[in-house]
Amino acid sequence: MTELSQQQLEQVSAALYRASVRLSCQTCSEGTLEIDRALYALEEVTARSPHGAPEGQAPPRKGRALCVVLSCERCGYMRLHSLAALGLDQMA
Ligand SMILES: [Zn+2]
Repeated sequence: MTELSQQQLEQVSAALYRASVRLSCQTCSEGTLEIDRALYALEEVTARSPHGAPEGQAPPRKGRALCVVLSCERCGYMRLHSLAALGLDQMA
């Protein structure tokens, strides 16, 4: 697992601020979203057939977005933000 350094965490926090991201939780209205130190990849999976990939093979990947996760410490709501959209895709 790739984990953000303190400097990278501060870069993500600054980029979210520049993008006018609010850290208040829109689900419970009382919690605050915190940035997870782990990086995540959201992958689009495309199947070759209606039954998926041939046995023993991974399905082909069409797209991949590197993301940071923000989660609410109160209710557990989680949200993804694309590093590319934040101008931080070189981070991973
Ligand atoms: Zn919440």
